[in-house]
Parts: sequence; C-alpha cells; structure tokens
Amino acid sequence: MPRLVVLRMGHRLVRDQRMTTHVALTARAFGADEVWVDREDHDLEARVADVVTRFGGPFGVRTGVSPKGSLRRWEGTVVHLTMYGEPLDETLPRIPRDRDLLLVVGSEKVPGDLFEKAGFNVAVGNQPHSEVAALAVFLDRWLQGDGLKKRFEGRLQVQPSARGKVVTTQTSEDP
Ligand code: SAM
Repeated sequence: MPRLVVLRMGHRLVRDQRMTTHVALTARAFGADEVWVDREDHDLEARVADVVTRFGGPFGVRTGVSPKGSLRRWEGTVVHLTMYGEPLDETLPRIPRDRDLLLVVGSEKVPGDLFEKAGFNVAVGNQPHSEVAALAVFLDRWLQGDGLKKRFEGRLQVQPSARGKVVTTQTSEDP
C-alpha cells in the first residue's frame, strides 16, 4: 500500500498550534499515515500522540522536518494543495496511485519554488479557504471514502449513536 504523508509548511509556534493540530488530526482521521511539520514543536507532537494513544493508530507525527530536504529526498509523488492550482476533479485521475504521496499544505505563504517542485498543484476550488478543509476534501476524494472507514484499534472506541455519546473502553484483558 503506498504511503500517504502530509507535510505542513509554515507552522508558527503558538499562533498556528490549534490549526496545525487540526491538520494532523484531519490527516489521521481521513486516512493519511503520517504528518510532518516544518517547525519543531514538542507540544504538538505530544497532543497528537495522546490522541493516537487513546483513539488508536498507527499514525506518525514528526516536527522539525526540513521541507527542502523532504521534497528533495521524496521518491514518490508530490501534491501541493493551493487555491491557485488546477481543479481537483481534473487532476485526480492524473496522479499515480501506485506511488507514495507527499501532500503539502501551507499556512500563510509558501515559497514560490514549491509550485515548481510539486508534481501537481491542486486546487480544491479556486477560492481561499483553509488547509484543513482542502486536506479533508482531497483525502476523501483520493481515497474514495475509504479513509473515513479506516479502523483504529484504540483504547477508546466511539460507537456510532443517534443521540448522546457512546464510548467503550478496551482493557488490556480484552482480546
Ligand atoms: N494564498 C494561499 C494559497 O496558496 O492557497 C491561501 C493560504 S491558506 C490560509 C493556507 C493553506 O490552505 C494553503 O497553503 C493551501 O495549502 C490551503 N488552501 C487554501 N485554500 C485552498 C484551496 N482553494 N485549494 C487548495 N488548498 C487551499
């Protein structure tokens, strides 16, 4: 199964912590394998790791990752999500399905050369919105809905319910 990694660029400490946490949790919940963040942020790593511990994995988080080095060394396809890109529906069929995918989202401004380095610059509509929304829509379309059906074997299992919150807890004695 090809690896699906999200690279979050332009993370600013404090200011972007909530948004980057949402990028990470959305990546996990919608079917990506890992999130990489350019700026080192141990609090962010701990928050995401805590969700993985409680609700399940596998899902990896790394911060302090050099975008330049990652883009240079990446052996699969690079997709950059940007409002300036080509329409999602037209681009999806051209992205190879048998190669690892590095999915890049920005924060404020991304370096101009990213548009050249990316194999595909993909727009989720050509209006400005959010990296979280762009990521969720891309992953859902790319994985054709299967990302959201992924099973997480966590200690806490949320049981779908018409009303209220139903959460079961696995103990270590459970099979
Ligand atoms: N001017 C930016 C751009 O290039 O899309 C908008 C900045 S937005 C606050 C932060 C990130 O959200 C962008 O770097 C991009 O990854 C993502 N984003 C925002 N709107 C998007 C759209 N319509 N399509 C794809 N990605 C989008």
